[in-house]
Amino acid sequence: MRLRGTGVSSGRACALLMVYRPVRTNLQGMDGTVEDAETKLRRFELAVQISWDEIDALIGETGRRVGEEFGAIFEAQRLMLEDPEWLDPIRKHIEGGASPPQAVVVVSDDIAQEIAALPDPYLAERAGDVRDLATRVLRHLGAASPRTLASLVGSGEVIVAAHDLTPSDTVSLNPSVVRGLITETGGQTSHVAILARQMGIPAVVRVPDLLKQLQEGSLIAIDGETGDCETDPDAETVREYASAATVHLPVRPEKARTRDGVEVSIVANAGSVTEVKRAVAFGADGIGLYRTELLFLQQGGAASEEVQTQTYCDAAQAAEGRPIIFRTLDIGGDKALPGLTAFHEDNPFLGVRGVRFCLQHPDMFRAQLRALLTCGARYPNVRVMIPMVCELEELDQVREMVEDLKGPSPPFSLGVMIEIPSAIQLVPEIAASADFLSVGSNDLTQYLLAADRTNAALGDLYTELHPAVIRALHTIAIAAGSESTPLSICGEMAGRPECLQLLLGLGYRVLSVSPTNVPLMKHIVWQTSLEDTALEVARKALAARRVAEVKDLVERPHPGGIARPGLES
Ligand code: PEP
Ligand code: MG
Repeated sequence: MRLRGTGVSSGRACALLMVYRPVRTNLQGMDGTVEDAETKLRRFELAVQISWDEIDALIGETGRRVGEEFGAIFEAQRLMLEDPEWLDPIRKHIEGGASPPQAVVVVSDDIAQEIAALPDPYLAERAGDVRDLATRVLRHLGAASPRTLASLVGSGEVIVAAHDLTPSDTVSLNPSVVRGLITETGGQTSHVAILARQMGIPAVVRVPDLLKQLQEGSLIAIDGETGDCETDPDAETVREYASAATVHLPVRPEKARTRDGVEVSIVANAGSVTEVKRAVAFGADGIGLYRTELLFLQQGGAASEEVQTQTYCDAAQAAEGRPIIFRTLDIGGDKALPGLTAFHEDNPFLGVRGVRFCLQHPDMFRAQLRALLTCGARYPNVRVMIPMVCELEELDQVREMVEDLKGPSPPFSLGVMIEIPSAIQLVPEIAASADFLSVGSNDLTQYLLAADRTNAALGDLYTELHPAVIRALHTIAIAAGSESTPLSICGEMAGRPECLQLLLGLGYRVLSVSPTNVPLMKHIVWQTSLEDTALEVARKALAARRVAEVKDLVERPHPGGIARPGLES
């Protein structure tokens, strides 16, 4: 059976299914005991205190296991435990006769519902944090199962399916046992998605009626990129998905070369200092895309210049001399920031996004540029690139702002992302003016095909394997090459093993992929011959007229082509 949701944390996994149904029970209070209001209040205060201590420990643990900045997710919960807007109505309900669990449920559900109804999707998804906190307190009131998800997972590999997962559930999981997550609710910016991405666990959210359709213990394959899930997959799919997830390849820190000696850089995408460290540990040749907006999203608003400077310097240092490309803020679209981005845009992906947002908020943008300039002055490996450029004037304006702040020779090179159709047409001019280019294939595909990248209802329509996307990628590579402007590609396509030969054949020599994919991609480069296979795949793909023809080309094994570990017959 096939199911479809929204992929929010890329990677593929295939394992047995574990269905998680947390239960809330015993809302009446202490079974059989009639408590007076004072005793009930004391019991509530004690549960709050224990929860506070637990969350305090969780902030430290999250910092150690996932990354300092991710502790902030739980800091918001700790603050709520001290917030009179949550505490006072609960106390009032208890004084009015409700049991402590009833009071916690009523007040927390009210607040969660109010938050969930907010028009800003990022804010709306914070409702999950309120529910997470309530469940923790209920557990200490004896009204929720004391068994956490982590304690239910055994030592065998599983994919966890649930109606909803909380940040606390997610952060406590061991990624080497929990190979994937699927939920009925959630979204790109829910904390569960953010944590799953950070922990390298493939995740698919918003799968309708998931729990009605799945059976505990069945085999399931999930693709955290496309959102596809398949129960009882055929042997081929099992082999493919399981090998993508479980084969451990040796980390090779040297640059990969094709069989015929062409050097290919496999760099990584990162959104935090921890991810940079992880990329280096996996042998990445650098960081091809550091998404600076994630710091803002995690903080739920603008990060101060000091925090930005510190974070960027820590990331640049963690790259240990390898090039690191910081992308300036790319918020807007599906990455709304409370209080900063417009509350409502009819077409947010066509709205105030990326560099447009930055140029409309010059003070905030200057603070980011100053932080990057300070970082660049300390770390010569720093580069900066601008997202969502649609006309040369935007590059001119950013360059002018940088020069106003630092004079004509800033300490970093300035690149441009090519991800909007107008920029493809202007690549010769942009390449002549920018220091380097990087293709954002996720947005490039979305805008070329007029297919919202987050809309599951479009089915297979959104695909990088559309002939128009392939031809656009070729046009960009040719134009950048004739200006000798360094070029890379950093969308999800760059990290797909099956697309590697095609991209090499189209002229790409720097691919930015997720940190955990670095060893596999390097492995495939070593086995690929540019002359014998990659150029041939690209030539045929450029001649293709239909998506199916391109799919067939990249998905079919090629004679003399790649052999993926675990797939050799
Ligand atoms: C892209 O669009 O391909 C890209 C890398 O950027 P993002 O996914 O953050 O928009
Ligand atoms: Mg993009």
